[in-house]
Amino acid sequence: MSANLKLGKYYGTEIQLHWTFFLLTVWIVLSEVLSGASVDRVLFNLQFVLAVMICVLLHEMGHLLAARKFGIKTTKMVLLPVGGISTVDKTTESPKEELLITLAGPLVNIIIAGILFFAIPVSDYIGYNFLEYFTLLNEFSFKNFLFFLFIVNITLAVFNLIPAFPLDGGRILRAVLDFKFSRVTATRIATTISHVIAIFLLLTGLLFNPILLFLSLFLLIGSFSENQVVHQIDLLKGYLVRDAMLKNITVFDPKETMEDVIRVILRGSETNFVVVKNKKIVGLLYHKDIIENSNKRSLLVQEVMTTNFKTMETKEELSVAYRLMQEETHPFFPVTEKNELVGAIDFDNLHEFLLMEDRLKY
Ligand SMILES: [Zn+2]
Repeated sequence: MSANLKLGKYYGTEIQLHWTFFLLTVWIVLSEVLSGASVDRVLFNLQFVLAVMICVLLHEMGHLLAARKFGIKTTKMVLLPVGGISTVDKTTESPKEELLITLAGPLVNIIIAGILFFAIPVSDYIGYNFLEYFTLLNEFSFKNFLFFLFIVNITLAVFNLIPAFPLDGGRILRAVLDFKFSRVTATRIATTISHVIAIFLLLTGLLFNPILLFLSLFLLIGSFSENQVVHQIDLLKGYLVRDAMLKNITVFDPKETMEDVIRVILRGSETNFVVVKNKKIVGLLYHKDIIENSNKRSLLVQEVMTTNFKTMETKEELSVAYRLMQEETHPFFPVTEKNELVGAIDFDNLHEFLLMEDRLKY
């Protein structure tokens, strides 16, 4: 289950608002109310959070439109107060495409900042002393609102251009290195640079500001998983779903009972099952649902199975399957060949396949 708010679908892209946005909103309202702020001030701040959200959305739209130009579909987009995370159906291996797709996001913020720079104009805010600034910026005018938005867009652009994974800057660095080195080497160098930056932030955070500690942790985790993903996708290159699928799988009829299912589970090592009727796949039985209903032995398979599922074909690339599985709550897919069920693929099996390949290649 996800605590994110689903905003809707746009051309097949699911747009979600990360829960930290609510945390930010609640925190702002609470701290304002506790300090005795006026209604105007609270409203001003809430509208501002909304405006920041729109700027993050536009940043991600920049990535989305650039990716679409290269035939890459964005399946999911999560908006965070510091930027967004987009999930694409396949990654590009071309450094030029990666460079353009990644640059498109911060570029949107730079364009918004540029428009605001002249529209406000920002030059009105130059040449004050600290006290004058304080009085000026404490006014809830539309002009100040736009000025803060200008600062936010500059910050979004600069922050996302820090050359560390998982930020845009890290990808830009990798793409640039990719022109000269292999993708695995480029990722490894970019990951090392990300770690150096994260450790620098960690030390500065310990000395000065705890917020930097969180940022450092975010970069460390992000860069570790990026390196891991690229390494694993490289291992899977050249393989098809056929090579890693489970071939001897037990299938059930929708009319069979939970009693039958439990007997099979206890006898072997299978945990998820495909449900077939007249040679057609009609549903999937997930381990979690079987356990949940294990006390109702007379329940029929069709009452427990999930009917909303994806299938894979034997000739699909294994690296694509791997990415898809990372997205799923139940990483288990039936595999078909010429529309007929021939096996299944799950994450455990794929993981085992990866472990063996790792020994072979490195
Ligand atoms: Zn971005």
